[in-house]
This record gives sequence, structure tokens and C-alpha cells, in this order.
Amino acid sequence: MKRKPQCDRCMLCEQQEPHFNRCVWGWGNPNADLMLIGEAPGLSEARRGIPFCGQAGNLLDHILTHLSLSREDMYITNVIKCRPADNKLPGKKDLEVCFDRCWPFLLTEIQDVDPKAILLMGGTALSLMAAENQITKWEGMEVESVYEGARTFASLHPAYVLRQPSKEFRLAQAIARAARAAGLKVKTKTQVDRRYPYEVRD
Ligand code: URA
Repeated sequence: MKRKPQCDRCMLCEQQEPHFNRCVWGWGNPNADLMLIGEAPGLSEARRGIPFCGQAGNLLDHILTHLSLSREDMYITNVIKCRPADNKLPGKKDLEVCFDRCWPFLLTEIQDVDPKAILLMGGTALSLMAAENQITKWEGMEVESVYEGARTFASLHPAYVLRQPSKEFRLAQAIARAARAAGLKVKTKTQVDRRYPYEVRD
């Protein structure tokens, strides 16, 4: 199932502004061994049609640089492909309907890329793909997900870390763990950065 720029499969289509991108597709290396899955496009993403190209994406890039990784090493996408108005996701039941309708798109992406490891970033991706509700309990850990073809891990969401900068190393650790499971080389030296000191252990 391919991207559908005029997607009307769920209620989010009613909230889309005409000049925004609908059904924002993933971005990155189509042959990557690592896939990162976030929540849903925000304003910048709906404008540009690229996932994680706003502030949360900048933080992600910053962490990737620290780990000696780059977006070319991975494929990045979202569980929900349309921007919810004001970035407010619908309630649990409606959200599950949206995910149900979006799932064929996401499954296509996962099957096309065929990653060795997947990182679910944030509570929404975790609850929709792994049926677990407590991201603070599962972040950094391997989880069981609806897709069984890759090892799957959970992490905090970069947007959450923007509000809680002290948690940045937790996100970095989780990315590093998933990246290693995918067979990528991750820098393990202690990072000495004045703003964001963190250490990524083997
Ligand atoms: N947050 C997400 O979950 N996905 C994006 O693409 C951007 C911000």
C-alpha cells in the first residue's frame, strides 16, 4: 500500500489544512537496518512532508551526532501519518481507529525497509504497536510488538526530552541500544559536552 496524499481513511483528514501534507511518509535509508518510529507529524512535518524536521528532529539529530550516527543509517517514520490539529491526538478509542487505518501504510514501510531493529519513540508508538502504556517503565527496553520481524525497543519521545532535558541521556541510551541491535557501530566514549553531558555504555 503506497502513500496516499489525499488520504481520507480516518477522522484526521477532516482536520487537514489544504496546503499541508497529508499521509507524511517516512524518510531516510530505504535499506536501513534500523527504523525509528515516532508519533505523528507536527506543524513543520506537515508543512514539509518530512518526519522529524522540526525541533524534536533537531534534538534527534543532535543525539545521533553524539553517537556517531546519522539519518542515512536509518529510516524514520511515524505510527500516525497525518498531523492532528494543534498536535492534539484523539482519545484512545479514536486513536486506535486511526492507527488501524494507518497500519497498512506503516506495515508497507516496515516490510519494504525490512529493518533488523525498530525503536518506538514515545508512549503513543509504544501503546499502538506494543500494547504497553507506561513508556517510563519500558523506555530503554526490548518489547514485543505487533510486527514480529525485527527486534523492537522503546524510548522516550524527543519532544518529551525537549521539555525534560535531563532525560536526554536516556533517549541516547535507548537509541544506542536499538542501533547496536541493528548491527550499527555506536560511539561509546564518554561525551563531554557542556550542555548535554552523557555517557553511553556498552
Ligand atoms: N513528533 C513525531 O512524533 N513525529 C514527527 O514526525 C515529528 C514530531
